[in-house]
Amino acid sequence: MVTQKDRHSGFFSKMEIATAGERLRYQNRKLSHLIAYAYEKAPAVRKKLDKSKLKPGDLTTVKDLEKLPITEKADLIGLQKKNPPFGGFNGVPTGELGRIFVSPGPIYEPGEMVYEDRRWAQALYAGGFRAGDLCQITFNFHLVPFGVMLDSSLRILGCRSIPAGVGNTELQVRIMKDLKVTGFLGTPSFLFSIVQKAKEMGMNPQKDLALKTAFVAAEMLPESLRESLESELRGLMVRQSYGTANIGCLGFECTRKNGMHVPDDCIVEIVDPRTGKQCAPGETGEVVGTCFNKVYPLIRFGSGDLSYLSDEPCPCGRTSPRLLKIVGRVDQMTKVKGMFIHPGLVDTVAAKFDEICAYRVVVTRDGHQDRMTFQAELDRPCPEPEKLSGAVKKVIQEILRVRGEVQFLPKGSLPQGAKKIEDQRVWE
Ligand SMILES: [Zn+2]
Repeated sequence: MVTQKDRHSGFFSKMEIATAGERLRYQNRKLSHLIAYAYEKAPAVRKKLDKSKLKPGDLTTVKDLEKLPITEKADLIGLQKKNPPFGGFNGVPTGELGRIFVSPGPIYEPGEMVYEDRRWAQALYAGGFRAGDLCQITFNFHLVPFGVMLDSSLRILGCRSIPAGVGNTELQVRIMKDLKVTGFLGTPSFLFSIVQKAKEMGMNPQKDLALKTAFVAAEMLPESLRESLESELRGLMVRQSYGTANIGCLGFECTRKNGMHVPDDCIVEIVDPRTGKQCAPGETGEVVGTCFNKVYPLIRFGSGDLSYLSDEPCPCGRTSPRLLKIVGRVDQMTKVKGMFIHPGLVDTVAAKFDEICAYRVVVTRDGHQDRMTFQAELDRPCPEPEKLSGAVKKVIQEILRVRGEVQFLPKGSLPQGAKKIEDQRVWE
């Protein structure tokens, strides 16, 4: 008889249930070691500190990271051109690396001889993967690091893997059925294609496939898609994870689907991109990661994504903070009266009113004050413009958290393909 695995309870390590104080002390200690090491071994890190007139002893806590500028992906490309191949971010000599990955850019990334990063393994465990699972990895195995990282992480958990790579949907279905695969790793849309293909091939996915867990990443997971997958394959648990190719795992869902827990072996800051200061829980800013990887010590690396953290307790028992939602990209946002405005939020305002057919937000400067105007075209005559304008203002205040003016324009007056946020402020 096959015993059912308990995929819902248990923890990957004791640190998952540590108090906030214990976790902070652990991370401060790891950070101090990493900074001291990287200052000696990675020229780019030494330069970064020297430029800010800092010594390793000045950076011993998570809060101290605010003293350092954020390194963005574009900086990495520039640094690599100047100082090939790694821009000085390798913490061991090139001859001692296990692998070299190539991410879009191209960015060359040093890979360690022995994979020790436990963050993806922690994520997989939280998503229900257990020792003995047979797992089909459908992420890319060439050039980029993700497939190889996941393969090594499954090994840490005692799972077996099939390095299937992307595409070949029909073959993927065949493998999944023949080998009674229990774990899937890939994009949610590819899992959906696999289930559809299985049906086209005359299978009953519920009966013919043995999938129990799906670890999805690299694209958005709409709740409707999760529900559809979990109902097509009853008993399947679909959980998502978040990270970047350069810096690895920065968040993962637990069984409670309650936002994405930050792994213990990295520091995730939410940072105001204009000031570099850390935001309070609930405030939106850029996701900035620091991981404790000596081979590739990226310190304060900007993901370019916007999110916010919650430190409320999660019913799963894990005590780490959670990234609640990726709300957009840094390069699309504008700060108005101290608040970040994102095109996605402007869309949310407009979607509340049927009669609005085109819209944008214009930001101007009136003396020393920002002024925000929501311009909208209406697709029908409005009998009470004052009333509608009042209602729109109220929604703007609720969603954008900034007071704004409302201006209705005749149909066709907004330029075609206009930016959602038109920043017309002139700074001297
Ligand atoms: Zn949880």
